[in-house]
Amino acid sequence: MSSELFFQPIAQLAAALDAKKFSSVELTRAVIARTKAVEARVHAFNSFDEAAVLAQAAASDARRAAGQARGPLNGIPIGLKDVIAVAGQPLTASSKILANFVSPYDATVTVKLKHAGAVLWGRLNCDEFAMGSSTENSANGPTSNPWDLARVPGGSSGGSAAALAAGEASATLGSDTGGSIRQPAALCGVVGLKPTYGLVSRYGLVAFASSLDQIGPLARTVEDAAIMLGAIAGHDERDSTSFRTEIPDYRAELKTRRGPWRLGIPKEYFGEGLDPEIGAAVEQVIAFYQKQGCEIKEVSLPHTRYCLDTYYVIATAEASSNLARFDGIRYGHRSKNATDIVDLYFQSRAEGFGAEVKRRIILGTYVLSSGYYDAYYLRAQKVRTLIRQDFMNAFREVDALLTPTSPMPAFKLGEKADPLALYLCDIYTIGVNLAGLPGISVPCGFTQSGLPIGAQLIGQPFCETDLLAIAHAYEQAHGWNTKFPFL
Ligand code: GLN
Repeated sequence: MSSELFFQPIAQLAAALDAKKFSSVELTRAVIARTKAVEARVHAFNSFDEAAVLAQAAASDARRAAGQARGPLNGIPIGLKDVIAVAGQPLTASSKILANFVSPYDATVTVKLKHAGAVLWGRLNCDEFAMGSSTENSANGPTSNPWDLARVPGGSSGGSAAALAAGEASATLGSDTGGSIRQPAALCGVVGLKPTYGLVSRYGLVAFASSLDQIGPLARTVEDAAIMLGAIAGHDERDSTSFRTEIPDYRAELKTRRGPWRLGIPKEYFGEGLDPEIGAAVEQVIAFYQKQGCEIKEVSLPHTRYCLDTYYVIATAEASSNLARFDGIRYGHRSKNATDIVDLYFQSRAEGFGAEVKRRIILGTYVLSSGYYDAYYLRAQKVRTLIRQDFMNAFREVDALLTPTSPMPAFKLGEKADPLALYLCDIYTIGVNLAGLPGISVPCGFTQSGLPIGAQLIGQPFCETDLLAIAHAYEQAHGWNTKFPFL
């Protein structure tokens, strides 16, 4: 591990804070200084507030001095994607339409992190309304990949992944509707966990596609992801999709769960379009588990080829409905050029939304319109059931599935101008969202040219403990996360 504070995992930082090796204020100052040193090149943040973060760090030190320990997040600087509400801070979703919006309240995950003593640091850049796979759709300009500044960090939680990889936060939160935590985690060489649908409350998350959205952590290690998940998971009255379930001690369980596990390799995830270097790296991961005595079984998810189409009907339909609230009246940008009330709606939305968001609203409105609803939306819901059944059938034979996270490593900024080319980035991640399952991306090597590669493990609903343990076993034996980008 690096001796630099800003590259250390939470577990290590927390132990050092408890041992009074340094204070949260000192740690936070180190992260601020690092951010100032690299942010002009990385551009992971939409905004940050130094005074506010230092005040939180000082409060955390005071709590520790008073013997009011609050667990491993006490005093740790955590960055939040700019779609998660923090009272009194900007909440822009990287959109012009919310450019001057300040959240009046905290998201449930924010309340939980504050309760755990975390120090909330900055608003992280993302694709506008979390729609994209490269963070290039941000109204604030793109984020760069810390491993190669000419390349994208992935998306939509690109700021969350890049900030972490660059040492600008000790862990971050992202949101994942079709891969937006796992894909940028893979492209930036960090761990990214998308929890089971219903495990983490979305109250206070700017909604994109409500039947798919989940909040989850990006972290340096699997153990850190377990710590973060433990802090944010749990039932919430304010999110009607939130599930009532016991929240295990994910971190403690890491040490008790041992394999061998039965791992399924879905053959549809290793075909055409997969970068050969990524394919080879994931083969090595399979070989590792095999050596550990795990049973490796080829499985089939026959409806995989319909995932992308199904997702882009359902996600756009839900987005068109969710984004109807941005009308220039209640939130954010209001056009100054309108002639009457209807024109005000038109102009405000035309001026406020970016091209990709407009494309999705138009597509989503179309698939929901009378005459097309049955042909598109209803049919997509039926195919979604088949996709979920594929996974459930596979889980009769195996404990988890192992796949690449992304078909390609980080690509060049501006390289994928065609929206369809970008949509194809999510080919291995969106099935997990359609089926409501947990998925984790763990670093599993680098390409010849030094770009990170991620492997994805997919688990059964609410079996995050197993998923984390399986990922942890691989990570412990490899330690890819002890390498850092040179900035
Ligand atoms: N890249 C996908 C999209 O553009 C997924 C985004 C996400 O998970 N938020 O919709």
